[in-house]
Amino acid sequence: MSEQLSIRVFPDSQFRNSLATFVVLVALMKTEVKGMDFNQRPFTVIWETTRACDLVCLHCRADAIPDRNPYELTTQEAFRLVDMICEFGQPYPIFILTGGDPMKRPDIFDIVAYATQKGVRVAMTPSATPLVTREAIKRLAEAGLVRLAISLDESTPEIHDSFRGVQGSFAHTLRILDWCREFGIETQIHTTVTKHSLEDLPKVADMVAELGIKLWALFFLIAVGRAARPEVRRLNISPHDFERVFNWMYDLSKSAPYDITPREGYHYRRVMLQRRAQELGVPVEELLKEVLEKSLRPTDVVPSKDRPKIVRAPMGVNDGRGVVFISHVGLVQPSGFLPLAGGSVREKPLAEIYRHSPLFVRIRDYSQLKGKCGVCEFKQICGGSRSRAYAVTGDYMRSDPYCIYRPKAWGKSKKEIATVAQT
Ligand code: SF4
Repeated sequence: MSEQLSIRVFPDSQFRNSLATFVVLVALMKTEVKGMDFNQRPFTVIWETTRACDLVCLHCRADAIPDRNPYELTTQEAFRLVDMICEFGQPYPIFILTGGDPMKRPDIFDIVAYATQKGVRVAMTPSATPLVTREAIKRLAEAGLVRLAISLDESTPEIHDSFRGVQGSFAHTLRILDWCREFGIETQIHTTVTKHSLEDLPKVADMVAELGIKLWALFFLIAVGRAARPEVRRLNISPHDFERVFNWMYDLSKSAPYDITPREGYHYRRVMLQRRAQELGVPVEELLKEVLEKSLRPTDVVPSKDRPKIVRAPMGVNDGRGVVFISHVGLVQPSGFLPLAGGSVREKPLAEIYRHSPLFVRIRDYSQLKGKCGVCEFKQICGGSRSRAYAVTGDYMRSDPYCIYRPKAWGKSKKEIATVAQT
């Protein structure tokens, strides 16, 4: 990544650089901030509606194919899944319909409508194919879809279309965003960060601003599905580039007219706190304590007057810890990028699997984290990507191999580390 990855056109926000002001801001927000016990309930439920998709994205996690699997959850099972989400109680987790391409299911409008009638907020991540028409967006809006997320990897069609494997995908993405605006559906952009897209990120950032997007999510590659192939693994950026992108994101987050978040880049939260503490002139430990005690969200820590108000989870969400993924055949996984299941919704209620299955209980138990993540002072807000640890090492409790941070306790004697790991 070169110098080009620097902040562009956004005006300076009115930042308050004193701890006193920060504390006042936190106090003002306190009424909105509620702790959330991720041992009991997820913030987000993601359902892989199907693995069928007409795109052939180079890095596809789902290794999607053109046709639907006859063993996918049926419409009735999808309704039952919505009922299971409601069993977590109010406020219901956000329900995200992903794929493959959810638009390959003709019943998708009924499923959105069913969940909406139950009071569940639904978002969807369709693929930019001719299945998404103006009429389809209108029907989704009528069914109650709250937000639509779509991929945009580059600021020009050439690399985006070659990455997604279909000519015209870039242009259709822009049309879909127009239709969402027309019918009042919030929009979100997903960008996969690779060696190809790295230098272009500032231009994509400008586009996201011009398109009036609510949230920009930057996805960091996990070697799973088609992304596990050597030619795709080679596209992953280096751990040092993770750090540089995170610092760039932090600067951008202060003035961008949208919210920005990493996916499978949990150590961004550590960078965020380090940078914010530096700005406030306070020890980072003090800020970390405040974040943990008050269950603060990223948007509480880095305020911005330009950012739209959207619901964000308190920091600490990680694979299987505030997020749960249900596969197209009903398997319950900590993440779509971690192909291990704690059970099936065809056999047990979702809440029971999420709360009590050995896989989910263990992955949330940070006293069992190994290596640097196990002794890291930031682990309660970060914990490293469990999916990346699994993809790279085969052990989902090992350290995130793409974090360069050296925890304070790292390098101490094994006895000392064991003591820290229990805290
Ligand atoms: S060492 Fe692990 S827990 Fe600590 S910041 Fe890095 S990824 Fe996060």
